[in-house]
Amino acid sequence: MYTLPELSQEKSFESIAIMTSGGDAPGMNPAVRGVVRAALGLGINVYGIYRGYSGLIADDIHPLTSGSVSNIVQRGGTMLKSDRCLAFKDPEVRAAAAAILKRRNIGALVVIGGDGSLTGAHLLEQETGVAVIGLPGTIDNDIFGTDDTIGFDTAVNTALEAIDRIRDTATSHERHFLVEVMGRASGSIAINVGMAAGAEMILVPEQAFDVATISEELATSRRAGTGSSGIIVVAEGPEPGLTSRLAAQLKERGQDPRVCILGHIQRGGSPTGHDRVLATCMGAMAVRYLCAGYSDIMVGVKDGSIVDVPLEDVIRFRKGLEPSLLDLALQVHR
Ligand code: ADP
Repeated sequence: MYTLPELSQEKSFESIAIMTSGGDAPGMNPAVRGVVRAALGLGINVYGIYRGYSGLIADDIHPLTSGSVSNIVQRGGTMLKSDRCLAFKDPEVRAAAAAILKRRNIGALVVIGGDGSLTGAHLLEQETGVAVIGLPGTIDNDIFGTDDTIGFDTAVNTALEAIDRIRDTATSHERHFLVEVMGRASGSIAINVGMAAGAEMILVPEQAFDVATISEELATSRRAGTGSSGIIVVAEGPEPGLTSRLAAQLKERGQDPRVCILGHIQRGGSPTGHDRVLATCMGAMAVRYLCAGYSDIMVGVKDGSIVDVPLEDVIRFRKGLEPSLLDLALQVHR
């Protein structure tokens, strides 16, 4: 459970809107439910914007009732659908979007998404004055200002379940598997999955690695009879194709690893209990922050407390892996 900030109710809204945007993440549905139920409880109307910013500029906006969000807490994906909308990078399009909200008397917008979606929300607020609150919805856990993002825990557990299965085959056939997990430029999923799966090695963008050394380590442990098989967890990194290239380079050095790219299975599935609680708390807190007069912030979690983080900071700063966690993981796993 989280420690909550004390907020007084200072502002009232006739209507607010909510959207999910960018890459989907398990837990977006409980976040939507949290916002809707919390707002309705305060007598605020809630509108759902379908397909992120694409739906906003197309006026694809519909009232949500308590019943609209029944029976979604356990579902992956997002009931509001998601999309990428390049047009929203244009200030004129954002001005038109604000006019659509104004016409409907919608005074505030809650955006659930990754750093791109939160950038769009910040610009909308700065240029048009629409109140916005962001919620960090991404499996990558790469958002500055929050220890945790909605979907991260589920993605780690989904990848872990897959790796436990792959290990059975690795052991039976005495092979090494390179298992690629998601995370873009962040090694957060890889470090957590690697530790939990007892991986023999974890390769992340935050720590340079050398193919010759990896090959030598595999050969040495094979010769010593301590490592006839194993799992090497590889973070996908910012450029596609890393794991296949690494496998080819290891092959040139006499190793014969198999490659398994977990891909989109990590983005789907029923959210874990942890993600459902996180998302529900963040959703309800988004409404409390709005009613306390906050705007242009993201709801985050820091050291077990719910916090508000200026969207400007969320966008400007990059979240790195906790260095001591990286050290500890690499001490055990490589
Ligand atoms: P995520 O939110 O998961 O990081 P994207 O980076 O694809 O995903 O961003 C999602 C959407 O957010 C984009 O399709 C666009 O509509 C909006 N967005 C992203 N970057 C910007 C930007 N610089 N200015 C305005 N809107 C943006």
